[in-house]
Amino acid sequence: MGFFSKQNEDLGEQWRKKYLNLFDEQNKIEHAHHEKEKLLRQFIIQLSIIGEGQNKHLDPILQRVRNHVKNELEPITLKTELKNFNESIKNLPLKKKNLKADLLFDFLFRQYTDSAQQTALRELQKLVNNEDTTIEQASELFIEILKITEPEPEVQPSGESDEIVEPVVHIDVNVVSQQLLEYFSALAIPAVFEPQALLLKETLLNPNQSKQPFEDVLRDLVQLLLKIKEYGEAEQQDIDQFLLHIANQLAELNIIVTETNAAANSSVKSRNKLDQAVFTQIRELQVEAIKTTSLDLLKENVNQCFKTIVSEIKTHHQQDKERQQQFQDHMAELVNKMISLEVETENLKVELKVIHTQATQDTLTGLPNRNAYNQRVKDEIARYKRYGTPLTMTIWDIDYFKKINDTFGHKSGDKVLALTANQLQQSTRDTDFIARFGGEEFVMLLPNTDVTLARILVEDLRQLVASTGFNANGKAVPITVSCGLTQFLADDTEDSFFERADKALYEAKNTGRNRCCVS
Ligand code: GH3
Ligand code: MG
Ligand code: MG
Repeated sequence: MGFFSKQNEDLGEQWRKKYLNLFDEQNKIEHAHHEKEKLLRQFIIQLSIIGEGQNKHLDPILQRVRNHVKNELEPITLKTELKNFNESIKNLPLKKKNLKADLLFDFLFRQYTDSAQQTALRELQKLVNNEDTTIEQASELFIEILKITEPEPEVQPSGESDEIVEPVVHIDVNVVSQQLLEYFSALAIPAVFEPQALLLKETLLNPNQSKQPFEDVLRDLVQLLLKIKEYGEAEQQDIDQFLLHIANQLAELNIIVTETNAAANSSVKSRNKLDQAVFTQIRELQVEAIKTTSLDLLKENVNQCFKTIVSEIKTHHQQDKERQQQFQDHMAELVNKMISLEVETENLKVELKVIHTQATQDTLTGLPNRNAYNQRVKDEIARYKRYGTPLTMTIWDIDYFKKINDTFGHKSGDKVLALTANQLQQSTRDTDFIARFGGEEFVMLLPNTDVTLARILVEDLRQLVASTGFNANGKAVPITVSCGLTQFLADDTEDSFFERADKALYEAKNTGRNRCCVS
């Protein structure tokens, strides 16, 4: 057969090399696709790890996305998960702003002792504490309180005078100020409002020396509280907005992932098609070679065949180049998105940390505040119930603190507070918890400690405080603290536990101060 002459064998060899080179190139492209897909998976996994812990509703979805991506990049399932994520973010429960009105009510109960007023106040307190309360604004609450405490003045029966008769309000300015101070110390005040809060606090510490009428002080206070509330809401809105933004970014990411996958699939399909076309041509050539009797005709056929193959390869190359470009563009877009998402997520983490700290830390002493205590006591009681290990509470109160304020000024009073807080904290064990409960009171939770051991520990602490004192302009001023302690009992509640420790503190105060009593 003339076709299988040396010359034709060379031609066949040349073509075979060309074809094998093409295969090599194809393999490289596929390898690159795999590498990029791997990179894409790693990015998504990293992103889901960064996002974890931000919100308990989103965590299980992030976990599923991660598992899914770890196994296989399957766009349809991934798309469904990302959609879930998006929906969950939209439906995140917004934290209800707590009006923190308990201290206010404590004060009102003491101030307005008339039985009708007491009943009305109790009703109002119930309404405020109710989950579905209709009272959302501090201003509404104050209006309701005013209705109870300041009934409408009676209209004069005769038309003799147009003068409005001012209702006589019996308010003990000192008592009110003290209660408001306690309310203040339980509040988490954002840093921007601190100077304003500090001014008000100083006025309240010395209400009788203030040039401002007391009504004005109260009005300023209400305005500040409203501002703090609005500020908190704006912050929450920012976070919601940001989470929504992340959800949208993820949705966009999903589109890119799907397109990238489609590009990779279409490249493999196209390669298969080319493969098929080349083999068909070869088979035709072999059949022709066996059948043919004329060398010219065979040459003509071979030429035609090669032309077809070369054109197929050219088309394939051109298309593949375009797909490659598309793929690279997608990857670049993806990487950019990932980077900006990582930066934004990092910022969100920092922001959330600041908000959490403001809400749970006392600014003066740096100790956890009353909010933090409220959460921790629940955790410790739960631990007691699970493991049955003993739990002891201690309430500390600085003795004659008012006198320190009166004698050395409130700035010195603040220093004494910070100093005492520091001493109490430095001397507790890592597992113990201490918070500033309000004013000059601190509360400690000692897990895994019975009252007998706790008593020895707190006695050391009490002596440490008493032996240190405070330096006021070179003069040593003794500081002492009293404390009450009690152990959690099986049928205790959070409140009964606290009340018993408070009773023990009361006993320590009544029996001479600078001592610890057990209840
Ligand atoms: P006792 O020994 O019975 O505890 O007497 P006390 O004077 O320590 O207690 P009292 O409750 O009469 O006074 C507490 C004072 O603490 C009243 C309030 O003005 C002051 N106070 C509350 N918070 C702060 C604060 O943040 N800084 C300062 N300097 N004083 C505060
Ligand atoms: Mg005191
Ligand atoms: Mg006190």
